[in-house]
Amino acid sequence: MYLKSIEIRGFKSFADRTLLNFKDGITAVVGPNGSGKSNISDAVRWVLGEQKVKSLRGGKMEDVIFSGTDFRKALGFAEVTLLLDNSERSLSVPFSEVSVTRKLFRSGESEYLINNTGCRLKDIHELFMDTGIGKEGYSLIGQGKIEAILSGKMEDRRALLEEAAGIVKYKARKEEAEKKLDNTEQNLLRVNDILETYE
Ligand code: ATP
Repeated sequence: MYLKSIEIRGFKSFADRTLLNFKDGITAVVGPNGSGKSNISDAVRWVLGEQKVKSLRGGKMEDVIFSGTDFRKALGFAEVTLLLDNSERSLSVPFSEVSVTRKLFRSGESEYLINNTGCRLKDIHELFMDTGIGKEGYSLIGQGKIEAILSGKMEDRRALLEEAAGIVKYKARKEEAEKKLDNTEQNLLRVNDILETYE
């Protein structure tokens, strides 16, 4: 699996629709300071479901929408689409190409799409779980991240190893099942209470 292209529109400094095609192998993005290189990796992180504005170097989520310049009006929405090669079926969907889109309007309304079909943020998280690509994955290593991992908390390092080992989805499913069990136990207690009032 590899990143085939990224389409950015209205995101940070990319006011116009910009399509970046990547070939299999290594791609380097070069440019002067402030030209928008990091905005590309922010766009990747954002479309994968990043909710922490600090990780996107902003104060509020709306900051990712093109805010205008002296010569150009601000835009009303930001949209980013990633296109991934999935010919080896690394993502468990039956398509050889998978696109993921996130759209955010100034009103706060947002949309997520997988292969142009609306979905929940949860579906995006599940799609990338254990692939190393998700927003918490190790495929995006920001400045200072390696140092943070090496000197950081043991639990954070463990989370990274769990993602690499491919057990995150099982942990997530276990947590969901435990929550359901807990709810069922609570319901049973309530039913028993009601039954007792009739005895
Ligand atoms: P460096 O080499 O210094 O790290 P860079 O090429 O990575 O720089 P970025 O940090 O990606 O540059 O881009 C910064 C530019 O993006 C700034 O000029 C900033 O004004 C612009 N920018 C950020 N958010 C927005 C926004 N919402 N609307 C318009 N421009 C924005």
